[in-house]
Amino acid sequence: MKKEVLALSVLALLLVGCNGSTEVKETAHMHTKAEHDKHWDYGKNNGPAHWEEFSQTCATGIHQSPVNIIPGKTINMDHNYDLSMHEDVTGLAKILDNGHSIKVTPQHGGTIDLHGETFTLLQFHFHGKSEHTIDGKRYDMVVHMVHQNPITKQFAVVAVFFEEGEANSILDTVIDNVGKTVTLDPQNLLPKDNSHYYHYVGSLTTPPCSENVQWYLLKAPKTASAVQIEHFRKFYVDNERPVQELHDRVVEVN
Ligand SMILES: [Zn+2]
Repeated sequence: MKKEVLALSVLALLLVGCNGSTEVKETAHMHTKAEHDKHWDYGKNNGPAHWEEFSQTCATGIHQSPVNIIPGKTINMDHNYDLSMHEDVTGLAKILDNGHSIKVTPQHGGTIDLHGETFTLLQFHFHGKSEHTIDGKRYDMVVHMVHQNPITKQFAVVAVFFEEGEANSILDTVIDNVGKTVTLDPQNLLPKDNSHYYHYVGSLTTPPCSENVQWYLLKAPKTASAVQIEHFRKFYVDNERPVQELHDRVVEVN
C-alpha cells in the first residue's frame, strides 16, 4: 500500500512537471487526493501501524492515546482541572455506523466544565473493547464522549468503561437504531459516581491523532449485558488502537 502511495506521489509530481506550472500547492493538493482514496482501519494493511500514512502525528506524536494507566504511578489531581459534568440533555440524536464505530451525534449535546472552560458534547462512540487499560486490564467495552471547546476547538473526552453485568438501556437504543435518529439522554451512559477518574493529556485515538486532548477516564464502570456486548461486537470487536508510550506525561487521579 505504501508503494502505491509513493507511485501516486511520483505520478503527481510528473504531472505537475509536465504542466510546467510547478507550484508546491498543486503537489500538496494532489498528494492529499491520493491519500483520500484509501481509508484507515484496524486491519493489517491500513491499521494502526500504518496510520502515519494518514497523519504523521500518529507516528511522531509523543503525547498519544490510549495509554495503560498504572494506578500506583499516578499523582493527585490538579483541582483546577476537576471535571464537572452536565450531560442531562434529552433530545434527538443521529446514530451512524461510520465504518470505524457506531457514532451517536446529539442535536444539542450536554456540556462539561474544566479549568473554567466549557466543552460541548459533539458525539459519542463505542469501542468493542476498551482502548485504555488499567494496570493492563482491558474492559469489555468503552464509550468515548467527545467534547469540544467551541472557541479554542480543544477536545476533552470522557471515557466510561463497560463490564459485563446488568443490561444498559441506552445501549439497546443505539444498537437497534443504527442509521436512524432517536431521542435519548446521554446521562444514561454515566455511572452514578462521576467524581473519581484518571486524567491526563493525550490525543485522538484515530487519525489524525491530534494531540492536546484532555482525557478523563471514569473509574466506576457501567454494565452491559453479555447479549448487548455480543450484539455490539457484531458491528465492531477489534476497533481499538494499541496502547501508546506515556513518555514524559503523568496521570492524575481523583
Ligand atoms: Zn474512541
